[in-house]
Amino acid sequence: MLHEFKYVAPRSRSELLDLKAQYGGRARLLAGGTDLLVNIRAGIFKPEFVLDVKKMEGFGGVTLDKDSNLVFGTATTINDVLKDRRVREEYPLLAACGHDLASYQIRNRATVIGNVVNASPCSDMAPALLCLNANAVIASSSGERVVSFKDFFTGVKRTVLEDNEILERIEVPSSSSGTKGEYRKLKRINGHDLGIVGVAVAIKGDTMHIGVSSAAPTPILVGPMAADIDIEKAVEAVAEAISPISDVRCTKEYREYMAGVYVRRLIKEVRG
Ligand SMILES: Cc1cc2nc3c(=O)[nH]c(=O)nc-3n(C[C@H](O)[C@H](O)[C@H](O)COP(=O)(O)OP(=O)(O)OC[C@H]3O[C@@H](n4cnc5c(N)ncnc54)[C@H](O)[C@@H]3O)c2cc1C
Repeated sequence: MLHEFKYVAPRSRSELLDLKAQYGGRARLLAGGTDLLVNIRAGIFKPEFVLDVKKMEGFGGVTLDKDSNLVFGTATTINDVLKDRRVREEYPLLAACGHDLASYQIRNRATVIGNVVNASPCSDMAPALLCLNANAVIASSSGERVVSFKDFFTGVKRTVLEDNEILERIEVPSSSSGTKGEYRKLKRINGHDLGIVGVAVAIKGDTMHIGVSSAAPTPILVGPMAADIDIEKAVEAVAEAISPISDVRCTKEYREYMAGVYVRRLIKEVRG
């Protein structure tokens, strides 16, 4: 039987933060629900309250803040990101990662914020956010704090978020605009599937970053390194940083091998 919970749809940020302050870990936020409802159905999460963040006005779409940083709010879906011209032209790595996340139907509901709060090692948006130096703006009824995505993930499905906090927005700095990048995700099938390993390569000016998913307890960032680094040195740096496991999808040796293959291919592609 499905675990019973009370559904609440706050109409404002302050109402949401007050509810989170009051209920703490007994309340979970509902964005697209594509992870939350699966976890509730499986009995992994048993929240007493589910707080729907999609009914609040002004927290969706892709916006720019006063410093021209790209901003994703609590209701910004993956398809909102993919539709955005600035993303496609100035932050192509975000679009490459978004395209590889699930199917069109799931991307219509799934949010960027839900993806990173779920903190799966296979998160497809995390490699782009790590490579582009994005920040998580975390809010509670007592204020805000900003955490770089480099420090956001703390373990498998764990983040720095406290029970009374929400991830209010993601800021991708304007200084990362113009970064060239590509993402490649190895899957068992041609259709949509969680990754066996995912590699993102980002180059801006003389600096390169590499993001990797499905190859460690958390998505990881390797770099910065020189954009003209010897490719085998970059492969070595990634091999040292990852710690893949064997599971139902493949062996750790295959993950290690394919991470190297993708690093080589993508560096050549992104250098052009
Ligand atoms: C069929 C299927 C295929 C999938 N394929 C992929 C894939 O290829 N790649 C991939 O990366 N993922 C995949 N996923 C996982 C999922 O779709 C994504 O992780 C998605 O981005 C989650 O976003 P959401 O809005 O649905 O999150 P939700 O399910 O609404 O929330 C996820 C978690 O974040 C919490 N949360 C949500 N918003 C906030 C907030 N503002 N502050 C604090 N906590 C919050 C929720 O309480 C919950 O714990 C798949 C899922 C399904 C069902």
